[in-house]
Amino acid sequence: MRIAEPLHLRLLRLLRDQGTVSRAELADRLEIPRPRLLAELDRLVGAGYIAEAGMAASRGGRRSTLVELNPNLRFAAVDLGASSVDVEVSNGRLEPIAAYTESTDIRSGPKVILHRVNELLAKAKADGVYERLDAIGIGVPGPVSFRDGVPVSPPIMPGWDRFPVRELLTREHGCPAVVDNDVNIMAIGERHGGVAHSVDDFLFVKIGTGIGCGIYLSGEVYRGTDGCAGDIGHIQVDSHGPMCSCGNVGCLEALFSGAALAKDAGLAARGGTSPALAERLAAKGTLTARDVAEAASEGDVTCIRLIRDGGRRLGGVLAGLVSFANPSMIVIGGGLAHLGHILLAEIRSVVYRRSLPLATGNLPVVLSELGPRAGVTGAAVLASDLAFEQAT
Ligand SMILES: [Zn+2]
Repeated sequence: MRIAEPLHLRLLRLLRDQGTVSRAELADRLEIPRPRLLAELDRLVGAGYIAEAGMAASRGGRRSTLVELNPNLRFAAVDLGASSVDVEVSNGRLEPIAAYTESTDIRSGPKVILHRVNELLAKAKADGVYERLDAIGIGVPGPVSFRDGVPVSPPIMPGWDRFPVRELLTREHGCPAVVDNDVNIMAIGERHGGVAHSVDDFLFVKIGTGIGCGIYLSGEVYRGTDGCAGDIGHIQVDSHGPMCSCGNVGCLEALFSGAALAKDAGLAARGGTSPALAERLAAKGTLTARDVAEAASEGDVTCIRLIRDGGRRLGGVLAGLVSFANPSMIVIGGGLAHLGHILLAEIRSVVYRRSLPLATGNLPVVLSELGPRAGVTGAAVLASDLAFEQAT
């Protein structure tokens, strides 16, 4: 059984998600006695979380006053990828006020990358976006100890193991911070403002440089004992397959991921099986998963086959997860989501064929609605939840 959430948290979240609400409506929505609500509102106005917002339209009798989140609340959201950094500063309702995107290399190490994050936030401050931050949420592309606020043995992030990310951000900006895995923040974002808005049990599959899965069970992210739940990229799908970056053989992401597709594309271009890729390689000198997507949409048979093969392997893993967790939706996101409908069709066909009919009777497999903004949206949700929890 879940412990009832404290009143201030429910109240602040409701204002975050609904905007301006009257005192009378709040009492109805939260189903609490009016005197208790009014006392709590007074306290939160005094503490600077809530502001008065004028009079509500009359419902008959005395008019109720409106309240909203303090318009000066500011949250910073950071999404670190293997090759990019996204930073957004939002208001209390999580509407972005400033956004920055840059290419970067996570292997530069935590000092370089977090220094750049701090510079971007300092720029936002200098531009008048905020005076002070109320909380920061950050996602990193590897396993995280959510409790300690540190990455743990992240395979693609040399130098980041146990680096005190949360502590550094808290010290630099004088506000609480929360660190999570990049796939979890995307799942949280998609549930807050995307396609999984009204869904309590779903899987969010990120296909990018690697493959990971965010798991929502009963309305909560499931992170596992050590923070690496959902690391499905390292499930073995072919015992005779290629070596993976993790040291094992035949992992899903060694066969299908951004990195694996780029490698297969190179082989196809040089081996003469794909004229479209050969042409692109000659023009650019290098190939990425995006080239495979574009050539496939032009009808290149080899590229279509590469995407189908990948979709079949991923679908096989997802069919197992569907039997295990019985989710009510699967959301596909990440940089390779632009492989689009060929990929989606293959995943659907395998999942529907291999899972039990009861589990797939009503199981949408859909693309992320928020796309590249899923991560920062989720990081902002986590930041706001943290700030609100501390409003005691
Ligand atoms: Zn692996």
